[in-house]
Amino acid sequence: VAKGFRDVRMRFEGKRELTEENIDEALKDIRRSMLEADVNFRIAKNFINRVKEKALGEVVKVKAKGTQGKMEVSPGDHFVKICHDELEALMGPVDSSIVFTNPRVGPTKIMMVGLQGSGKTTTTGKLARLLMDQHGKKPLLVGADVYRPAAIEQLRVLGQELGVPVHAVEGGDPVKVCNDAIALAKEQDRDVILFDTAGRLAVDDVLMNELEQIVETTSPENIFLVADAMIGQDAVNTAKEFNSRLEIDGFIMTKLDGDARGGAALSIKEVTGKPIKFIGVGEKLDDLEEFRPEGLANRILGFGDVMGLMNKFERSLSEEDAKRAEKDAMRMLSGEFDFNDFYNQLEQISKLGSMNELMEMMPFFGGGMPADANIDDSELTKIRAIIQSMTQRERTDPDVLTRQPNRVRRIAKGSGTDQEKVEQVIQQFNMMRGMMQQFSNMGGGGLLGKIPG
Ligand code: GDP
Ligand code: MG
Repeated sequence: VAKGFRDVRMRFEGKRELTEENIDEALKDIRRSMLEADVNFRIAKNFINRVKEKALGEVVKVKAKGTQGKMEVSPGDHFVKICHDELEALMGPVDSSIVFTNPRVGPTKIMMVGLQGSGKTTTTGKLARLLMDQHGKKPLLVGADVYRPAAIEQLRVLGQELGVPVHAVEGGDPVKVCNDAIALAKEQDRDVILFDTAGRLAVDDVLMNELEQIVETTSPENIFLVADAMIGQDAVNTAKEFNSRLEIDGFIMTKLDGDARGGAALSIKEVTGKPIKFIGVGEKLDDLEEFRPEGLANRILGFGDVMGLMNKFERSLSEEDAKRAEKDAMRMLSGEFDFNDFYNQLEQISKLGSMNELMEMMPFFGGGMPADANIDDSELTKIRAIIQSMTQRERTDPDVLTRQPNRVRRIAKGSGTDQEKVEQVIQQFNMMRGMMQQFSNMGGGGLLGKIPG
């Protein structure tokens, strides 16, 4: 397994500056990491050259300034930052936009294309949900994969789950099915149509002709290519062919929740010049995210999705919350941490999403917790009840709990849990406090230092 960034950071451990030698060594790690993530070798090579040039430039600058004494950032961090920024530049600019028509003119049309099994039908459902939730749209799903009855059924199930109508004609003419949907959408007051088209195992002329006809007849404002991250480099050739025949507007990379590290996305971007619009991160309807270069950059370089975590923080915190969080963070970073803080942290975390999902994004947990450390939401409810059953004194001076065990008994009763559970929570609290104190000894910074204020 590639560790990318982590290897690089280790390489620079104890080193005081960037030199040509340690840069070369580090670049070897990065190169390996990129190839393992399915980045095309030519793209990796260009990337490495650019990073080298920049990093060496930094060496010259630092030498010229004659930096003495304490450095503000470690050479490892500095180097990683250069890599990260270059990678982001390679994937940008960010464009998750969807072109909408003026509703008076007619419904917006979105056509999904791609190979069989790439995730078109699933992504059609996910996109419909996103359009409803984030854009207040009323979608109509169209089953243009008329050859496989199971495909239409799959779309109908999704439509039902979403509460959205589905237009499909088994064994019908896909071009006609799509075209009829436009009038149907007007009748049913639907403002976006999603065409779920047929795919093949490989690109062929019959498929392309059919898709071209649909494009000609319906003139979709958006054509999105759905590409499976798991197929790595093959996705690149597919993208090239689809783009040359259909002029796609962007692509959606699916199955990024698995082992695939998504390097093919870089290549697709490079060969088509089209943006990555969204990424699929699971099988459920909510598992579609707008593409963010930082997230993929971290993934390709083998680092936990710290930026994703920070974005989640930003989204979930109101301005007032953010100010308070910053104050709390500062206090905690000075080594103070009590049960009230623990409680607030839990509240923040439960706002952010599932605990396990969150843990996976935290680099210092090594991108995943051991199975027995699973914290699910019912667990969260228990912990909350336990803290609520504590007195203010117990919350601010948690050590009294260890000194006076009858307090634990009372809390167990009050919270409807048992003593073992309460003791476990105290242990978790102690662990977290230990971690905070470690952070504080390291001079703060790190994760909590970045909470927006
Ligand atoms: P289609 O043939 O292109 O329409 O592909 P489907 O939408 O039927 O998807 C094929 C399979 O991939 C199904 O089992 C989906 O559940 C699965 N799938 C699609 N997108 C994702 C994703 O982002 N993550 C995961 N894990 N599975 C996905
Ligand atoms: Mg399908």
